[in-house]
Amino acid sequence: MSSVSVCTDIVIGDLGVGKSSIISRYINGRFTEGYKASVGVDFALKTIDLDSKTVVRLQLWDIAGQERFRKMSRVYYKEAMGALVVFDVTQSSTLEAASVWKQDLDTKVCLDSGHPIPAVLLANKCDLTGRDEDDLVSTLDGFCKDNCFLCWFESSAKDNINIDEAGAFLVKQMMLCD
Ligand code: GDP
Repeated sequence: MSSVSVCTDIVIGDLGVGKSSIISRYINGRFTEGYKASVGVDFALKTIDLDSKTVVRLQLWDIAGQERFRKMSRVYYKEAMGALVVFDVTQSSTLEAASVWKQDLDTKVCLDSGHPIPAVLLANKCDLTGRDEDDLVSTLDGFCKDNCFLCWFESSAKDNINIDEAGAFLVKQMMLCD
């Protein structure tokens, strides 16, 4: 018999970094250029067979067009058990913004232990960059340490790179905190 857990993840980051596209790719397996799923869609559901004994019902919340303040209300974060914080690798200002988003998150929600909820940084649109691995790796390793991210993934909603992997990693971390 399988056990069923319900997990809630939020996806945050600046406008245009690819949040809706990541959700659409993760949930529907699709990417549509210029597709704006966040209009009128606040959350999506996905069922994951984590292992032979565990089924996870994942709710994924999109901030649905409220990015301009780089702050969300405490109510919005209340149910969050994990976060994907997204930036666009072609726009360095969105990496700085990721740190502001993460601070906002950590001041408004934490685990019962007082630790930050598990959060993963997504360096999205990696299909658009040339490979300058060493630089990116050391910058993002340091950034994750400074901003209390568990880890980072290069991702592309367009080319389906590391979206499932990042989602699965976060769910596993959330189950450990449960
Ligand atoms: P949001 O505002 O953060 O929800 O961003 P969207 O998902 O609406 O994406 C903004 C734009 O970036 C759209 O034109 C998407 O097609 C494009 N986009 C999203 N993810 C990727 C990606 O991984 N690679 C490329 N090349 N474009 C992307």
